[in-house]
Amino acid sequence: MFPLWYSKIYTDGISPEATFPRTRYRAVRALLGSQDAGNSIVYHEPAATPVKDLLLAHETVYVESFLSGSLDKGSVRRIGLRPWTEAIVERTLVLTNGTISAMRHAVENGGFAGNLGGGTHHAYAAFGSGYCIFNDLAISALVARRDYGISRILILDLDVHQGDGTAQILENDPDIRTVSFHCGTNFPFRKMTSDIDVEFAPGTTDDEYLSTLESFLQRDPPLFEPELILFQAGVDGLDTDKLGQLSLSHEGLRRRNEMVFSLASGSGIPVVVTMGGGYSDPLTPSVEAHADLFLQAARDGA
Ligand SMILES: [Zn+2]
Repeated sequence: MFPLWYSKIYTDGISPEATFPRTRYRAVRALLGSQDAGNSIVYHEPAATPVKDLLLAHETVYVESFLSGSLDKGSVRRIGLRPWTEAIVERTLVLTNGTISAMRHAVENGGFAGNLGGGTHHAYAAFGSGYCIFNDLAISALVARRDYGISRILILDLDVHQGDGTAQILENDPDIRTVSFHCGTNFPFRKMTSDIDVEFAPGTTDDEYLSTLESFLQRDPPLFEPELILFQAGVDGLDTDKLGQLSLSHEGLRRRNEMVFSLASGSGIPVVVTMGGGYSDPLTPSVEAHADLFLQAARDGA
């Protein structure tokens, strides 16, 4: 059984007036309900993230300002998701802990676990950005080290946008490695420096993308030899995506996921799978690609 963290607040905590496609969480959950005939996924509801976990990755002033509702207008604008609802704080704490909880499960039990949300890789230590408030990936990696003594952790970010916040938070960390595959001309326009950044030109198709990923994953000796992989599996590399500029197909994304999962299961490395961007309009192709991701994780991590 693949454990997947999910709450209705992922969708309901964002205003219907926000330009962000908030319905995607509910839609992916519904599609999984109809496609997961073998009941290979078991759902868990996350609790709120403890503040001490947030402080592993974020500056106190930022955390306190957000929690008390006193972030200035410019900071809120940089995050987006506006207009904010009363539930934005609870939503953020629950969404973030979905990834931390999946990490705990994967580390304690081995295998794969996931969050039907998260992957909030544009959140920096001192501010949020690009729909991201707290960085669930960086926080989960730092909790894994604090609570389980795991040192070699790979954050593999295959969203079409660079994991700039993750790179900044962990830039001086010797053990937690950040890898970002992204389109060079996309948001964020000012890129940070990950341990490894791989940039693709707009219009890149499956063959080039997958052969680059394959040679990265098949390096010998294996890169970093991680004890834990946090996989940001954004699907905004799809050719139908409004905010991505790559031209990957559904089959290309399935092959991408399979490469990551088979490497990890072959080496017995626990994997935490998060969502990421997906902005097709209409949204259906993004929802289908995220549902594929979790069904694949349920199959390959079993
Ligand atoms: Zn993205």
